[in-house]
Amino acid sequence: MSRYWSSVVHKLTPYVPGEQPKVSSLIKLNTNENPYGPSPKVIKALKAGAGDNLRLYPDPNSDVVKRAVAKCCSIKVNQIFVGNGSDEVLGHIFQGLLKHDKPVLFPDITYSFYPVYCGLYEVPYELVPLTKDFSIDLKDYQRPNSGIIFPNPNAPTGIATELDDIAQLLRKNTDSVVVVDEAYVDFGAESAVSLIDDYPNLLVTQTISKSRSLAGLRVGYAMGNAELIEGLERVKNSFNSYPLDRLALVGAEVALADSEYFEKTRKAIIDSREKLIMHLQNLRFEVLPSSANFVFVRHSEQDAAELADKLREHSIIVRYFNKPRINQFLRITIGTPEECEALIAVLKNILN
Ligand code: PMP
Repeated sequence: MSRYWSSVVHKLTPYVPGEQPKVSSLIKLNTNENPYGPSPKVIKALKAGAGDNLRLYPDPNSDVVKRAVAKCCSIKVNQIFVGNGSDEVLGHIFQGLLKHDKPVLFPDITYSFYPVYCGLYEVPYELVPLTKDFSIDLKDYQRPNSGIIFPNPNAPTGIATELDDIAQLLRKNTDSVVVVDEAYVDFGAESAVSLIDDYPNLLVTQTISKSRSLAGLRVGYAMGNAELIEGLERVKNSFNSYPLDRLALVGAEVALADSEYFEKTRKAIIDSREKLIMHLQNLRFEVLPSSANFVFVRHSEQDAAELADKLREHSIIVRYFNKPRINQFLRITIGTPEECEALIAVLKNILN
């Protein structure tokens, strides 16, 4: 506490990111990073890009990245907004598109950054409970609101929402922006990008942090109607003209173009997920149906917090949320086949 803080700072409850350990000997299954490195073409381009021109500011409009996204998603450049990770993009969305008189709606169990943005930008919000089986029922969102946001697949559950249900919500909810946060969409959900030409109030966010394995580069984007994008550009140009540095521009452009590497690695992760689920079920874990690069699991006999501590003693870190409804679950990121095998071996050891 400091008397120099503004009143809004006094009231903040900041987001707490998953641990980034200082030692490299741990098997790190706690922050949904990609276990495979980025495309070798990206590394090569980054090395070539680290030169004398770093003395110059980057392109403030990130045009090369917008063109790469446009090509990837078969949309127009003026339907794309780019930012420093999808977290920054989401922040601008809360401030620029979701802040009105009525509450913003999002699930009670979801990405825990949403309420943090609401605190920072003083956006009222209302939590909509997940169903008994931890899925999102969009019929529950047909109530007065200034915006709706949910991840697809949801985090930390991993459960996907059907595209038909999203379209049905958009037909009913026409007076506020609907944001679909697709950070994990490439691991098994259907993207809502195909709907942006039909619904002027739909905004879809994606990131290169997960399926392109570039969490360290910080690039995310939003896709939607050109008027929504213009609103976000106005916020961005009142905040930071250069959210993407020169290396991020180069890396993101090449990563988005390398569809071969992207397909190969995301398939490997999906395969590992399905194998891991089978092993976990054999060890008496309940596993929520996952369309993401992580699984959300609870054990019939073992306390989740204790299990997380024991895994850590065996050098494996997973994510535990001490929150109502989910405090008996662990969120486990899908690692390499070797990391998944090590996890199963350690769990067998602990459980027996
Ligand atoms: N949305 C969801 C649901 C996430 O889990 C994350 C990752 N923590 C993000 C957005 C942000 O990802 P990034 O800023 O790396 O693009």
